[in-house]
Amino acid sequence: MTRPIGIPRALLPLLPLLPLLPQAAGGQAPPPRPTLVVFITVDQLRGDYLDRFGAQFTGGLARLKTGGAVFANASLDYAITETAPGHATGMSGRFPRSTGIFSNSLGVYDPQAPLIGGGGPPASPFRFRGGTLIDWMRSRNPLSRALSVSRKDRGAILPLGRAQQQAYWYASDGRFTTSTYYADTLPAWVRQFNARRLAHQYAGRSWTLLLPASAYPEPDSVAIENRGQGIAFPHAAPADSALAARVLPNYPWMDQLTLDFALDGLQQLNLGQGPAVDLLAISLSTTDAVGHAFGPDSRELHDQILRLDRMLGGFFDRLFQLRDSAGVLVALTADHGVTPFPEVYSARTGRPAGEVDLSGAAATVRARVLARGVDSSAWMWEDGVLWMDRGAFGRAGVSADFAVREFITAARETPGVLRVDQVRTLTPRDTVRDWVVRRWHHMIPPDLPVEAVVTLKEHYVWGPASYAMHGSPHDDDARVPIVLYGAPFRPGLYRDDARVVDIAPTLAAVLGIVPTERVDGRVLRAALRSGGTN
Ligand SMILES: [Zn+2]
Repeated sequence: MTRPIGIPRALLPLLPLLPLLPQAAGGQAPPPRPTLVVFITVDQLRGDYLDRFGAQFTGGLARLKTGGAVFANASLDYAITETAPGHATGMSGRFPRSTGIFSNSLGVYDPQAPLIGGGGPPASPFRFRGGTLIDWMRSRNPLSRALSVSRKDRGAILPLGRAQQQAYWYASDGRFTTSTYYADTLPAWVRQFNARRLAHQYAGRSWTLLLPASAYPEPDSVAIENRGQGIAFPHAAPADSALAARVLPNYPWMDQLTLDFALDGLQQLNLGQGPAVDLLAISLSTTDAVGHAFGPDSRELHDQILRLDRMLGGFFDRLFQLRDSAGVLVALTADHGVTPFPEVYSARTGRPAGEVDLSGAAATVRARVLARGVDSSAWMWEDGVLWMDRGAFGRAGVSADFAVREFITAARETPGVLRVDQVRTLTPRDTVRDWVVRRWHHMIPPDLPVEAVVTLKEHYVWGPASYAMHGSPHDDDARVPIVLYGAPFRPGLYRDDARVVDIAPTLAAVLGIVPTERVDGRVLRAALRSGGTN
């Protein structure tokens, strides 16, 4: 981007703060034709962070907040707020009930799709059902292409659904790679990027505070953080370069490396330069690593968000040097939020919080049904979900209803449990006013043998946990920002009750394409310049 005429040099550093408005200032000319969609997922960006830290933003988050349509109060609106379901939602416009991506453990793990060169578990989107935005784009024009990058396999894979486009993620040896679902070998540009060994160059560097310590109201040394190890700044990376590359995901630099890789891919693949509209999906994972280890109330999390803002600032500056901003659409959201450490929350607010562990109650009932001859795989309890194979109970002549009732009674008596719901009763109940029922209803594919689900009280987490957790239907985990930025969008702060499933249909609308399947989301018309009033 050339330096605008007539703007004093002293003001140039402030330019990223100004909204990047379309050229059609007169309101007559149609918006420029989109050339590139950039979809950014910040792993664990909670709904309140843009406000909480916003006064200190000067980079990419400032640009988006000032120049974008900001839905500060958006929601995932489903129950198991984990990374895999989150990344399956934004570009599909559909809830986990429909995408089939129910949890991280039922995410992308696929023994039939090993990584090229190893360095992580085998992975593919084989569990994903239906299509995503790139499929709809390619239905319109098969020349549309997509590149998706992340530190995490699920963060790179799921925004593309099953599309065999280009998806790369970070391997533990410091390379970006993909799995055999996508390719048999890495393309030259990825091998060349890896050969630079950028990850290894962080060996021995220290993560220090970006701003003076007085800019951070949070205490630095909190005993529960990071399992009690290395709880204060500075945080030094290992001196050994292989070890530094392995633990890089715990440092802000991982996000920088991911953004650098994304921009390299954009250039090497000529994305956004026609003939069709292309998609660049980026998932940034360090906020999740820092949030888990140090919690949402930590100085480390605060600094990570400020660094994320600066890194995104550099990313957009470079992107808009490479591509005309008038044709670029940006959508930013998160896959989930996070719940504070119960101890920290209780100490700060005086309100109750804690851990709940129902594994003992589940094991007791399981042992009893196994003793009566029911197959051991017929009963499984994991993270608030009771799986049951009713057929196996029938074959053994044991009452499944009796076993379930026994477990539910024990669960309901446990402190910290809000409610227990049998899945078959969810649908007939009120999904409009009863948000817990609605979020579970949006969660569970009808063909999964989920028998019952347990919802904890707000600020309670499944234990034993040594990290700050997410995964609940409560707003700490389920509320995330949505920002839409680019020529078709009307900048402003929107209080509408937007949901992450609304992103894909809204992008489709401004691209002039129609989803090729039923979606759960709706077009966020209030945010569209040409959309009229909703
Ligand atoms: Zn997480």
